[in-house]
Amino acid sequence: MRAIGRFRIPPQTTEQVMATGRNFLFIPGPTNMPEAVRQALTVVQEDQRAPDVADFILPLFADLKQIFQMRDGQVFVFPSSGTGGWEAAVTNTLSPGDKVLGACFGVFSELWTGLCRRYGLAVDAVEVDWGEGVPVETYAERLRADRAHEIKAVLVTHNETATGVTSDVAAVRRALDAANHPALLFVDGVSSIASIDFRMAEWGVDVAVAGSQKGFMLPTGLAIVAVSNKALAAMKTAKLPRSFFSFEDMLRTNRDGHFPYTPPMTLLRGLRASVDLLLSEGLPNVFRRHHRMAEGVRRGVAAWGLRLCAGAPQWHSDTVSTILTPAGIDAGLLVKHAYRRYNLSLGVGLARLAGKAFRIGHLGELNELMVLAALGGSEMALRDLGATLTPGAGVGAAAEYFRESAAPAN
Ligand SMILES: *Cc1c(COP(=O)(O)O)cnc(C)c1O
Repeated sequence: MRAIGRFRIPPQTTEQVMATGRNFLFIPGPTNMPEAVRQALTVVQEDQRAPDVADFILPLFADLKQIFQMRDGQVFVFPSSGTGGWEAAVTNTLSPGDKVLGACFGVFSELWTGLCRRYGLAVDAVEVDWGEGVPVETYAERLRADRAHEIKAVLVTHNETATGVTSDVAAVRRALDAANHPALLFVDGVSSIASIDFRMAEWGVDVAVAGSQKGFMLPTGLAIVAVSNKALAAMKTAKLPRSFFSFEDMLRTNRDGHFPYTPPMTLLRGLRASVDLLLSEGLPNVFRRHHRMAEGVRRGVAAWGLRLCAGAPQWHSDTVSTILTPAGIDAGLLVKHAYRRYNLSLGVGLARLAGKAFRIGHLGELNELMVLAALGGSEMALRDLGATLTPGAGVGAAAEYFRESAAPAN
């Protein structure tokens, strides 16, 4: 038996997980944790009501606004996974029976519209082929046709993590403006914010939801929710019940650096470190880096002769690639094999993509050589399972792209 810490892992019935070296974590969240974040999490327990706690909390809220590229409004941090952020967005701003316009093109966009239905909202969910994103033209038609302004909120899953598809939030804002429609604009940015350009103010987004374990490179446990003044005004008349996720309770207590319940101080210390890393790299550089890492993966996939689930390049995600496996190769087995044989964690295909696709998460703490490792391990695992691809093809294509697209060496 192999020992990890004080736990003993029973032998695998098939192959033993590689016991030496590190695990290569390439799922689209939780993502790799930078050393500075990991160290920031190693703090003694602290007094969340200490007289100087506001000196820590208030600047953190202010800096989070920079990450969301917002001017007015508020950022709330809930002790929850990202899903709680959806619940906060909906329950604080809407009333039972309100009409909501959304679209389903993957597991996460489906779950969000499902959550809206559970809360008694009248959801108009446009069905879209998996591999495409928010159907802006259909949204525009629906909004134009809604002269009575019955649609109270429009949902956009900025980055659908199941399919590796990024949607155009700005185009949805233009559609709302063109129709002169007052609906609130809600964005699920759990796998985009802090990795892919997201502009709360410029795009007129009313509620944006992020989670700690993706672009923020932290453990799971924080829903980070940015809210516009318009959404805060809607809260005054919204009738859905809310308690744990109440914006009002947060507003009242956050003002002087407190929370309505015990704040997750340790995670907030980690968040401070993560925000510092993001702002010191500079958001434009963070976005460019993610684009380059993603493009390296895409070059590798093309060199294998495989296809992405995301169709046209306009949909290609810079944080996750969903890769269709060749006929006869079970993607579920592939992911298990990569883990056991090479200690490489890849994302499985979700729902209707189960067995048909695997995912490489390329967000957060990441550089070129890490991407080459993910491609190298995927390539070996694919070949082990019988795929006919030239050894090194994917790694070579990505490596050449990284060399060519790098800033010139001095
Ligand atoms: C991960 C994810 C979620 C769910 O977040 P949890 O932290 O698992 O609750 C929601 N939406 C998208 C797009 C995601 O990638």
